[in-house]
Amino acid sequence: MSTGRGHPLRPLTTALAAVALAATGTLALHTAPAQAATCNGYVGLTFDDGPSGNTPALLGALKQNGLRATMFNEGRYAAAYPAQVKPQVAAGMWVGNHSYTHPHLTQLGQAQIDSEISRTQQAVAASGGGTPRLFRPPYGETNATVKAVEAKYGLTEILWNVDSQDWNGASTDAIVAAAGRLTNGQVILMHDWPANTVTAIPRIAQGLAARSLCAGMISPQTGRAVPPTAA
Ligand SMILES: [Zn+2]
Repeated sequence: MSTGRGHPLRPLTTALAAVALAATGTLALHTAPAQAATCNGYVGLTFDDGPSGNTPALLGALKQNGLRATMFNEGRYAAAYPAQVKPQVAAGMWVGNHSYTHPHLTQLGQAQIDSEISRTQQAVAASGGGTPRLFRPPYGETNATVKAVEAKYGLTEILWNVDSQDWNGASTDAIVAAAGRLTNGQVILMHDWPANTVTAIPRIAQGLAARSLCAGMISPQTGRAVPPTAA
């Protein structure tokens, strides 16, 4: 967890947005809430356990609301549904590694852990998702052996600051409220498959915009949400 790391807010001056505002004078009326003129901070939205048949609906909701997110894919699903991975990238998402079969890694030996991670790196890359730089261990369970294998593959371990509980039957209201607790740099755990999660997306976008927070990428260097880098 990275909750303990202090990181001052960085007010970002958005020259282009200021120009647009001056030019039109009606930016607020014509700009979707998710496309706030100013980002006073960034949060990392993450969706685990895909890709699946639900992925297109999730990507559609994210795109429609101007949100980018990190998708922690399982290797077995990337291999089974390779056609679902490229659309994640095309929609502006970042693709991470969430193991191949979602085991309790801390109960496995190093060779098995290595297999889980390396096969997923290959499956994601083979399906057009690029080579992941972020790894989320299933159930958030990690230990020194897991960390050693992550390091071997150049992966940064990403847990979360806020658990939406969407995996545990959380209501749409509860998921939206969880996202409302995010502060600059923090990461929220959500999943590819719960229907309530997709339903929550527009309200999550509105809530972030109201707080001048933007959806960012998760830095492989710090594990925190940061402004998306070009391309
Ligand atoms: Zn998972």
